[in-house]
Amino acid sequence: MDQENTRNFIETIIDKDNEAGTYGNRVHTRFPPEPNGYLHLGHAKSICLNFGIGKKYKGLTNLRFDDTNPSREDVEYVESIKRDVAWLGFSWEERLYFASDYFDIFYEHALKLIRKGLAYVDDLTGDEIREYRGTFNEPGKQSPYRNRSVEENLNLFEEMKDGKYADGEKVLRAKIDMTSPNINMRDPVLYRIVHASHHRTGDKWCIYPVYDYAHPLEDAIERITHSICTLEFEDHRPLYNWVVAEWEDPEGQKPQQIEFARLNVAHMVMSKRKLRLLVEKGLVSGWDDPRMPTIAGIRRRGYTPEAIRDFCERIGVAKADSTVEPAFLEACIREDLKLKAPRYMTVIDPIKVVLTNYPADRTEVLQADNNQENEAMGRRGMTFSNELYIERGDFMEEPVKKFFRLAPGKEVRLKYAYIIKCDEVIKDENGEIKELHCSCDLESKSGSGVNADRKVKGTLHWVNAKDAVNMECRLYDSLLRMDGEGDDGDFLSQINPDSLIVTEGKGEAGLAAFKAGDRFQFLRRGYFVIDEDSTADVLVVNRIVGLRDTWAKLQKKS
Ligand code: ATP
Ligand code: MG
Repeated sequence: MDQENTRNFIETIIDKDNEAGTYGNRVHTRFPPEPNGYLHLGHAKSICLNFGIGKKYKGLTNLRFDDTNPSREDVEYVESIKRDVAWLGFSWEERLYFASDYFDIFYEHALKLIRKGLAYVDDLTGDEIREYRGTFNEPGKQSPYRNRSVEENLNLFEEMKDGKYADGEKVLRAKIDMTSPNINMRDPVLYRIVHASHHRTGDKWCIYPVYDYAHPLEDAIERITHSICTLEFEDHRPLYNWVVAEWEDPEGQKPQQIEFARLNVAHMVMSKRKLRLLVEKGLVSGWDDPRMPTIAGIRRRGYTPEAIRDFCERIGVAKADSTVEPAFLEACIREDLKLKAPRYMTVIDPIKVVLTNYPADRTEVLQADNNQENEAMGRRGMTFSNELYIERGDFMEEPVKKFFRLAPGKEVRLKYAYIIKCDEVIKDENGEIKELHCSCDLESKSGSGVNADRKVKGTLHWVNAKDAVNMECRLYDSLLRMDGEGDDGDFLSQINPDSLIVTEGKGEAGLAAFKAGDRFQFLRRGYFVIDEDSTADVLVVNRIVGLRDTWAKLQKKS
């Protein structure tokens, strides 16, 4: 698909606005997270969409913290969100804003609404307000405090601000229509009393605006043109428009809210609140546990920003909810790493091989491709000696049919090296296989031996035991069980017990030269990234994704 010429429905709206001159050809979007947790993959979708549109239209995109709720927010989250947006490859340049910077403006605007007879102070309790609000089928009832005079409302609102009342004692409400078919328009609450310190404004305020009042004003203040949000806000749009209607813009331009379908990925927890539960209950090692669908977790898992952006682009922007298969995300990272990641040899569950006829004092350096599918990546040397490791799973003492790997009396080729034959299985006192004694066809060296082209059925990866790097391999799987109902209902009971398996592996010596964050394909084992937990003695690696493309399989089936 030619992505330059295709337009999603949001871009179609923007094109029309540009043709009509609604915003004088300005395109200005924002990404407005609440700093109450770490961002997840759903937010990545919103980030790519908002910053992507900014870029595509040579417009602007703000990063704005919607920090109007003092109790749940924290600077830790602010910093993590900045890091995540930057990691995804987007820049807010100098446009970093906080809703809390506008608290004075929100307050002034509320006074204006009161003066215009569009807002009033209500003494009903939260429960009473809910009861008076009515239902889908029944209109609401007016509060007995609805017709207070402007003077009285101004006084009471000021007293609210000055801390005269306890939490919940009074609220400021919009005076709209208690019989509106849209419940959001039945005199919604604009301000509530919360005696709590705010992470940025401290104790300056004890009244805080609600989202539906603050958000449209934030957009209007920043002169946002297209305010993109998820579908659950569709019914709030009339209220959004009601709030911005009273805003005086220098050019009379009002931001417009456009809703799109949120990203859901099957068997993934996609809510900051639920993700926080996983952290607090210790079910994961933290917000950046590589099993977490947080951006921090995905980053540590080894995903690239390119793959995430590609994923967000390819799932598209829709107006109807849908769920994406995790296999599709995995296909995106495989595709990104396929030609980029160097291919190294590691053994994740090692078994020792001793070559009985290869000189014990000899070490030779063999040439290996860094990436067979990308010749430009060149070759590297790999040491070879009479003591090696191969995968335990690549040997069977009593081979089943069609097992073409190593077995007693059978031959295999060691990749880039020699053909070996298993002569003897050495066991320990418990009957466990300790090592395999093999002989080597010394004429079969890849590329140069007389028997270099001799064919045997299996080819195995291997590591030289004499200089191997010790590895801790963290093999990840879906955090939630794939046969469960996903993040609905009791998701805490659906944790996959095999979501993390740790093995002690061995890697080729060259791996020691790399650093945390470097990514590889480990031959026949998958894509891996070096984790920051690595020490001088142990290279800790996270499996990003296996090699098997389950997405292509799913596609073929359907
Ligand atoms: P959560 O429920 O996980 O806390 P939220 O919507 O409350 O999510 P915000 O911090 O308010 O989180 O979100 C910032 C922006 O990200 C909003 O514009 C929101 O619509 C968008 N967003 C959140 N979740 C998703 C999702 N799953 N798909 C797409 N966009 C999302
Ligand atoms: Mg939220």
